[in-house]
Amino acid sequence: MKNSNRKFFTALSFILSIIIVSVIAVSCGGQEVQKPKFGLVIHGGAGKIEKASMPPEVEAEYTAKLNEVLQAGYKVLADGGSSLDAVEKAINLMEDSPLFNAGKGAVFTNNGVNELDASIMEGKTLNAGAVAGVKHIKNPISLARLVMEKSPHVMLACDGAEIFARENGVELVEQEYFYTDSRWKSLQRELEKEKGNQQSSIGSDLEVDRLGTVGCVAIDKDGNLAAGTSTGGMTNKKFGRIGDSPVIGAGTYAKNETCAVSGTGHGEFFIRLGIAKDVSDLMEYKGLFLQDAANEVIYKKLKDLDGVGGIIALDKNGNIAMPFNTSGMFRGYYLENGEPVVKMYKD
Ligand code: ASP
Repeated sequence: MKNSNRKFFTALSFILSIIIVSVIAVSCGGQEVQKPKFGLVIHGGAGKIEKASMPPEVEAEYTAKLNEVLQAGYKVLADGGSSLDAVEKAINLMEDSPLFNAGKGAVFTNNGVNELDASIMEGKTLNAGAVAGVKHIKNPISLARLVMEKSPHVMLACDGAEIFARENGVELVEQEYFYTDSRWKSLQRELEKEKGNQQSSIGSDLEVDRLGTVGCVAIDKDGNLAAGTSTGGMTNKKFGRIGDSPVIGAGTYAKNETCAVSGTGHGEFFIRLGIAKDVSDLMEYKGLFLQDAANEVIYKKLKDLDGVGGIIALDKNGNIAMPFNTSGMFRGYYLENGEPVVKMYKD
């Protein structure tokens, strides 16, 4: 090839490659994508949640409530509130609804009482608070926050937690407050199964009933992450059993440098695997992206042990992940510059 021709083709291929790179950049959103500064992700429990068996009116009820929770949490953040405030607000609303297994809609232990667990964590300071096995606390997540802010401890349990609540002016309620027909019937079904010597009542509950634990992770305008989880535990659990939800690192974790995580599922597995902190650790020590870390924990580590459940996770850049290995998980997110999104089935 003549020298002049070679020069011509070199110049042409140079120009073409610039055009191709620009086209790819634009089609991939090459202009700086605006990252959300603040936002929240919520869950209302993982379990057997399938379109085919979901009555439309129940679907509508969950959708409306989850939307209401997202709007309320978003407003806290948009008004300049902290991620802790947003997490507490979102979880309070779900605790007050009989739709979820937390607060008002808590499930029953095998001796017919309601024992509630909750925890909350602040990503900036790694401060955390938790309550376990409380029976008269309307909003356990708020008491968990008080433990974090007004006691030198991370976790208070049972009577000690309730005395601490009273000392701090927290509203206590009678056990009857937590009674719902549907949760009572779930317990009766499980007790019947046990009588008939059917297999593992706690495990089978996961297949039959929705779990309904609630959780929220949020990031505020200052870039601070927070996470919280609240639950009645699992139907027919032995009284005194404490699950993963109040265990920092298992059901809840937040660290500004990595992510905030809240879990729902068979708590014993979440404790054994330290699920929530594992997501953060995979990011910190292995440099994984949030989605990859969350997927590895749920689709590999939890699955390998035959555990069931899911998590919601949010990182410092506003990326989110919501993996679960059950048929569904009530979940939603609302990030700055976006719209509220609610989902419950597999995508
Ligand atoms: N993780 C909760 C527990 O084991 C149950 C749930 O998520 O629904 O107590």
